[in-house]
Parts: sequence; C-alpha cells; structure tokens
Amino acid sequence: MWKKKRRAVAILQAVILTALPFLAINGQSAFRFDIPTLKLYFFGSAIWIREFYLILAVTLFFILLITFATAIFGRVWCGWLCPQTVLLDLTQSIADLAGTKHLKTVQRLILLPLSAMVSITMIWYFVPPAETLRSLFVSTTITAFFLVLWLLVYLELTFLGRGFCTSICPYAMLQNALFDKDTLIIEYDASRDETCMKCDACVSACPVGIDIKQGLNSACIACAACIDACRPLSEHRGMPPFPNYKGRIIRSKTFWLGGGTAVAALTLFLFIASRPSVDFLVTRDNASLPAGLNRYSYTIYNNSGKLLPLELSSPDRITLIGEHALLLQPFSAIHGRILVKSTGKLNQVDLRISGGDISIIRKTGFQ
Ligand code: SF4
Ligand code: SF4
Repeated sequence: MWKKKRRAVAILQAVILTALPFLAINGQSAFRFDIPTLKLYFFGSAIWIREFYLILAVTLFFILLITFATAIFGRVWCGWLCPQTVLLDLTQSIADLAGTKHLKTVQRLILLPLSAMVSITMIWYFVPPAETLRSLFVSTTITAFFLVLWLLVYLELTFLGRGFCTSICPYAMLQNALFDKDTLIIEYDASRDETCMKCDACVSACPVGIDIKQGLNSACIACAACIDACRPLSEHRGMPPFPNYKGRIIRSKTFWLGGGTAVAALTLFLFIASRPSVDFLVTRDNASLPAGLNRYSYTIYNNSGKLLPLELSSPDRITLIGEHALLLQPFSAIHGRILVKSTGKLNQVDLRISGGDISIIRKTGFQ
C-alpha cells in the first residue's frame, strides 16, 4: 500500500525539516538565513548577501532541481513531501482513530499545537533555535512574529487546507508548464472502464474530492490514496487497480535535466570551496582632512568557521592611526575605519591584513 510508504517518507521529511536548523556544522545551523547579518548558512559555509554569484548559483541549482523533479516525477512533492499534505494527512488519521462523528472539530483541535510547532520551526530557519527558545515570550519581536505566524498557519490549514493547492500555491501553477506526456502521474485506466465496479471507493478516499474516473484533474496531488482504495477490490478480482501510476522515469530528459542539476550542484560546491577564507575590502573616504592624512573604511569577512586574530598593517612607510589588532568571530564581518598619515608624497598606499597563513594586501589611492 502506498499509504505506508508515504507515511514513512512523511516522518523522515518531518524529522529532517525540524532537525536541519539544529544540525550544527562549523558551529552554525546547517541551513538558515540569518536575518540580522543577511547571510545564508549553507551546510558549513556562510553565503553573504553581497555574493551575488553564489546567490545566483544557489537559485539556479534549486530551479533546476524543481524542474527535474517535477518534469520526471510529477507532483511527487505535493503528494509525498509537502508539509501541508503531511500535516493534514496526519491530523486526519488521528481524527479517524478517535472514531468520533466530529472529525473536522477533532482535526482542528489537533492542528492547534501542530501549527504552533510548524511556526516555531519556520522561525528556526531565520533565528538560531537556542536564541528563539530563549526569546520566546521575552522578546516582543520574536513573540509577535511567532503568534502571527501561528495564527496564519492555523487559519490556512483549517480553512483553506487542500484548497490552497488549487487556488494559491505557486508551485501547483508552475507544474502545468513542466509536465509532458511521460511525466509520472496517477491516471485511471479508461481502457478497462467496463470492468470497473463503479464502487466509488477511489472517490471517497480522495482527499481533494476528485473522481479520477473522469480523467486527469489539475487538483490531483498524486497522493495515491485512490490506488490504495481500489487495490483490495481489484486485486480480489485478479487485476491491478484501475487508477495507477503512469509515466516513464528513464528517458533522455531524465539524463539531461538530472545532469544539469548535478552540474549546478557541483558548480555551487566548487564556488564555495574555492572562496578565500577571508575577504578584505577597502575604500578611501572623501573626508576633508589636513594634508598628508587620509581616512579609509574597510570591511573584513571571515568566510570560515574559525576564530581569526588578524593584524592591520602596511608595508609602506606610513603611520596607521586606529585599531590594528582585530578579532574576527567565525562567519562574521567587521567594519572599521583607519587614518593613514604620510610625511612623504604618495599616490597610493598598501593596506594589509595578516595572521596565521593569511596575508592580504589591498592597494588604494592616497591624496
Ligand atoms: S475504487 Fe476502483 S473499482 Fe471502485 S470505482 Fe474506483 S476505480 Fe472503479
Ligand atoms: S485522484 Fe487519487 S492521487 Fe489524485 S488526489 Fe485524489 S486520491 Fe490522490
């Protein structure tokens, strides 16, 4: 039965999505967009918002992955992995187990704590989990954010529910453009229509209320519940279920789309792996200062997960006025200013940061 397989995948998906912000690589969440510093923690690396080429590479990878998965496996995300499907299936199963007449009410009651859990998990993708738990009901911002999110998630799940898939979900809209004649779908075998018992077990089981016998419907989330409902009856008569998976997984599109996705993943990995562990940017300030004195603004990015003690200096015969010894926390940036004084005539100066095996020199103008 597909139901058991879907449940196993749903549990795995829930565990991964909840645990991902807690999984620490190089001291930071494996996957989290840190709002205060505008950087994405991505499996042991930090991608800064200014690194457009990396943001572009990440975006390209996800676009290709979605295109590949949808063109080949159809609505596998919707039926097997989408958190909304997982939550609604779970609450529906619990409500069914309760064996009450008030199924909807029980489901709505169960959704109340589950929506809170989903909301807090969503926040963990933006604020470190430990900080979220410390700040909840202490910090006004986090608390307000949590309560609003909880209300929205709860209202969406209880009142829109499966209707979200056909009305608002942008991914559902995108799929029509990505499907082709070989995409994996669930289809009723119309060639055997005469032997179908028209018992409508498939219709009763369908969570979105589709009659699959009427042909393909864009609201179908490919959950396979109709196959499971039909199977006992049809197999009892020695035939396969009337609704079933249809499509071709192994074909040329699989290879070129899958290959493109793999190349994008490899490119992203190489981009991240080949980045210097430290970036040093310097600009000269247009400040009116006495002759022989210039001011510079600098930013140093620590792209590594290590604490870096650095020294700001210059190989030129100049005097640096300002903080020389700098300590960079892992995956952090520091911004600073320094005054440069020269007694001789200069057109440019070299500013250097060094420490351990790091030595970076930036040339900049001097007036
Ligand atoms: S459950 Fe199977 S046999 Fe019954 S109506 Fe649906 S397709 Fe036909
Ligand atoms: S038609 Fe079948 S696969 Fe599609 S949503 Fe309904 S039960 Fe799920």
